[in-house]
Amino acid sequence: MLAPGVLSSMTAPMLGHLDPAFLAIMDDNQSLLRQVFDTTNRLTVPISGTGSAAMETSVVNVLEAEDEIIVGIAGYFGERLAEMARRCGARVHEVREAAGRTIPPEKIEKALGDHPKAKAVALIHAETSTGACQPLEEVGQLVRRHGSLFIVDAVTSLGGMPINVDANHIDICYSCSQKCLGAPPGLGPITLSERATHAARERSTPVQSWYLDMALLTKYWGSERTYHHTAPVTMNYALNAALHLAVGEGLAQRYERHKRVGELLEQGLEGLGFRLFVDAGHRLPMLTVVECPPRVDAETLRKRLLQEYSIEVAGGLGEQRGKLLRIGLMGYGAQERNVQYLLYALGKLLDRKPA
Ligand SMILES: *Cc1c(COP(=O)(O)O)cnc(C)c1O
Repeated sequence: MLAPGVLSSMTAPMLGHLDPAFLAIMDDNQSLLRQVFDTTNRLTVPISGTGSAAMETSVVNVLEAEDEIIVGIAGYFGERLAEMARRCGARVHEVREAAGRTIPPEKIEKALGDHPKAKAVALIHAETSTGACQPLEEVGQLVRRHGSLFIVDAVTSLGGMPINVDANHIDICYSCSQKCLGAPPGLGPITLSERATHAARERSTPVQSWYLDMALLTKYWGSERTYHHTAPVTMNYALNAALHLAVGEGLAQRYERHKRVGELLEQGLEGLGFRLFVDAGHRLPMLTVVECPPRVDAETLRKRLLQEYSIEVAGGLGEQRGKLLRIGLMGYGAQERNVQYLLYALGKLLDRKPA
């Protein structure tokens, strides 16, 4: 769901992608993104593409053929990241956990011991296929101590909970515009530390993707302003409006709102007989994942919610297809009244009163 001001920002008059007025919006977006990432990284830009483009940017710029990377996989998006790394020709060492769980730091530490040459360690902060939140602090410290790069997917979490890129020693962090930042899909914010920029500069082969080559992109987003590709101008208006809303609300207040509303949903769903898929302490505020009560079919419920109540919730991905409901309360959508309406609708469909 979009805030009305974000939607209307996209009807502003078109500017050229090198117009000084548009360059000012680009600068503003970079500085606002640094605030939500909580970083001083100069290289902080929205990639012209969705979250997956930013994910691909994170690996193609630092990985070359035969480089080694450790990837934590506990769901669908961990698999995607590993696949992208393999397509760079890298040797991927997978650290696996069951869906719904998080990767224990000891397992990463052991993998680093087993593969001391690993150039990077990558984790999914908010695994959107399961609703689990991966703690970053301890892993960040041990990856830094080891001298590898720490890559973090914050596609679902950015704007809805603290990421603390600098404090958590994250070298590359990326996200998307359409989840907790509350803009339409189409941009993939990314930030690179000096260490990551250095690693990209020291490569012996050119980045295999011309479009996602950060060294080329920097010339457009930096002081040179050299044409690289035409930025999606309207999308940058929307991101600008959404970021101003986020920072204007106060990031701490925004995180607190996501937490409060997420907990309200968890309690309400348990009261209706749903089972939370992730253990307490590892749940995401902006995404609640549940198994349906016995004899209730998740797909039928989803279809009826959409058709009869105009509420869209997601189903399970991959192995969890048909088994789960994934309910997002992100950005502008994270409001108590949305929780109350959903619980009312579910109560009606299940013919049950909320406990
Ligand atoms: C949504 C998502 C992506 C992919 O983003 P797109 O905008 O759909 O390309 C990647 N990682 C995670 C964790 C996601 O939730």
